Amino acid sequence: MSEKITFAPISYTGWGSLSHLLDEVARFDAKKILVITDPFLKDIGLTNKIVDPLESAGYQTEIYTDVVPEPPLAIGEKLVAYTRDNQFDMVIGLGGGSALDLTKLAAVLAVHEGKVEEYLNLTGTKQISKKGLPKILIPTTSGTGSEVTNISVLSLETTKDVVTHDYLLADVAIVDPALTVSLPPKVTAATGIDALTHAVESYISKNASTVTDALALQAIRLISNAIRTAVSNGEDKQARIDMSYGSYLAGLAFFNAGVAGVHALAYPIGGQFHIAHGDSNAVLLPYVMGYIRQSCEKRMKDIYDAMGFSSTNLSQEEASYRCVAELKRLVEDVNIPSSLKGFNITEDALESLTKDAVEQKRLLARSPMPLLKEDIYAIYKASFDGKIVEKQ
Ligand code: NAD
Repeated sequence: MSEKITFAPISYTGWGSLSHLLDEVARFDAKKILVITDPFLKDIGLTNKIVDPLESAGYQTEIYTDVVPEPPLAIGEKLVAYTRDNQFDMVIGLGGGSALDLTKLAAVLAVHEGKVEEYLNLTGTKQISKKGLPKILIPTTSGTGSEVTNISVLSLETTKDVVTHDYLLADVAIVDPALTVSLPPKVTAATGIDALTHAVESYISKNASTVTDALALQAIRLISNAIRTAVSNGEDKQARIDMSYGSYLAGLAFFNAGVAGVHALAYPIGGQFHIAHGDSNAVLLPYVMGYIRQSCEKRMKDIYDAMGFSSTNLSQEEASYRCVAELKRLVEDVNIPSSLKGFNITEDALESLTKDAVEQKRLLARSPMPLLKEDIYAIYKASFDGKIVEKQ
């Protein structure tokens, strides 16, 4: 069976890789550049690391900071309208997934007509047909992998949806762990578990391949080993480097293999309760994996080993049980509540969460175990109770 693998054309990775920015910008015939970032990153001076060298090199830059975490559709509409009204030659996204997703959207939809809403995956009617402005994506979190995916996620009233097309891929991704040192522990934990979830879900995805398996397992190794240190001591250079590579590899893996049940159930939590994407994934990861364990025992044994444990003297079944337990322990160790109750979500919300999660058919289709409405409810209930349950 042949497999299609798509990567963003150019990536720079590693400590100090931001030094390649000017050379890369010079490849495009750009004079006026829009830098899209969030206001906090501007306040702490991270944006200067991009804008100062560009200005010194003679580029005209404008900084756009109307970016919020988990951006709602309206923020996307506003930015796209802005890029249509003002003629930019290039866009550079600096930030977490929220800023990067908006950058991709702006770059492509700047040259299209109609509302962003009309390009949404679940309900949209319009097709993307043009590549748009050149874009460079520079992540400042080690989490989403947005710098190497063709997806832009937007929050809707009660759930999330995506705009997706290969034209949303970055022309250049610059993944410099030095930019992540200022991340506070809570964001390091949430974004790190997001990246781990990408790797785990890619590895068990029905669309997993030899290439994505290699990417996913190495991401699991790096993240599982580094995340506790990155959270407890953000200055630890090696932990930041490992998290950065881990999230980059996990991004490449899930872009090609896809994510599944955890993300399908996380979107409504993010949409309805405005909980950070990484936290929504974290509060579901052990419960989804526990529920579907029987459908991917062998793969969970591999994940257990990649997490740094040894399954040598264990049956496949026992290793898969331990894998679920270790995923739960990891979430708890980085101080993320491991139950929906911990996020003040009440039991009466489980029905409406289930109703929205059922709609995420694109994601659910990749689960190694089919997840029907009653399964989805059972997983939310397990997370609510903080107790792993299996499919009966
Ligand atoms: P984020 O971009 O929302 O940022 C979270 C917080 O961290 C913000 O307050 C931000 O100011 C702060 N922050 C970012 N970098 C920092 C730094 N270096 N130092 C200090 N503070 C910093 O968080 P995220 O988890 O990276 O992105 C979440 C968004 O990405 C969600 O909308 C999610 O749905 C989306 N997402 C997209 C993809 C994709 O493939 N496109 C994949 C997963 C998630």
